[in-house]
Amino acid sequence: AKSKGKSAYQRFSPEMKENSHERIQIESRLRRALELDELQLYYQPIVEAKTGRVVGTEALIRWNNPAMGIVSPDKFIPLAEETGLIIPIGNWVLQTACRDMKRWQEETGIDFLVAVNVSPRQFRDASFVRTVLDALKTNELEPKHLELEITERLILDDSIETSDILRTLDKHGVRLSVDDFGTGYSALGYLKSYPFDTLKIDKSFVQDVINEAEDAALVTAIITMAHSLGLEVIAEGVEEQEQLVFLREHNCDCAQGYLFSKPVTASEFKLWLTENHKR
Ligand code: C2E
Ligand code: CA
Ligand code: CA
Ligand code: CA
Repeated sequence: AKSKGKSAYQRFSPEMKENSHERIQIESRLRRALELDELQLYYQPIVEAKTGRVVGTEALIRWNNPAMGIVSPDKFIPLAEETGLIIPIGNWVLQTACRDMKRWQEETGIDFLVAVNVSPRQFRDASFVRTVLDALKTNELEPKHLELEITERLILDDSIETSDILRTLDKHGVRLSVDDFGTGYSALGYLKSYPFDTLKIDKSFVQDVINEAEDAALVTAIITMAHSLGLEVIAEGVEEQEQLVFLREHNCDCAQGYLFSKPVTASEFKLWLTENHKR
């Protein structure tokens, strides 16, 4: 039978031993990833649904390790959170994203923003606000060109601190978005009390929007609700033209997904930008 959690009495199976050994190895590699320059940001465009005009780009981290190849964030961000390594990694992400964005602004003159994912542990760190403002200042980037993506999971803990941090960032003009909307099982009340600008509909809803009436109903309802609260809506994981058409017809503001581009390196993104920019 499958037991919940790991009791202290449970014996290690060879497989578990291997897993924990592997874990320790990955952890020590991750510790050195920053100094060895193995982390890299990929970028995925966010476009206006009606026109296809680029309005933003989401920074998505990758770990390029000689022994393991390109490791996806789902494989190491949880570990980085548990070990606290997410703090230096998160700082690096903010600095790098702001630097890349500043360069694109200067080189192309196109007005769009960079969206950066923030994990709960990072957000709760006492120096988080300073880190964000620092990244903007160091790179001379205007706050309106930076959007922070915060998951519903984080908002679930609606402490005074969470609310204060969001308000402070909002006052500075940084944009705030709710990521993975619909997956957090949270109450909706926070949407009216927190200063969010954008709501990102999770890709699990977008995936079946054409074939499943329930998903279509949910997506439509989310868009209507978000708009009545003054929030912009981005649909994630748009892969097919039919999905885009549905989203357009239901007044979804923006879309992101493989239909437009998969996440690509900074230089590939710059190329995409110049080729796909509409005046
Ligand atoms: P997310 O923020 O929900 O990011 C969207 C994920 O969906 C990305 O996976 C992206 O590559 C993928 N995606 C984009 N378009 C499509 C599509 O059309 N279809 C499908 N099926 N998937 C699509 P990725 O890059 O593997 O990132 C996974 C998660 O890792 C992210 O989910 C985010 O929560 C986290 N993450 C990524 N970068 C960072 C970071 O710099 N810091 C933190 N704290 N977390 C990050
Ligand atoms: Ca995100
Ligand atoms: Ca705002
Ligand atoms: Ca998401």
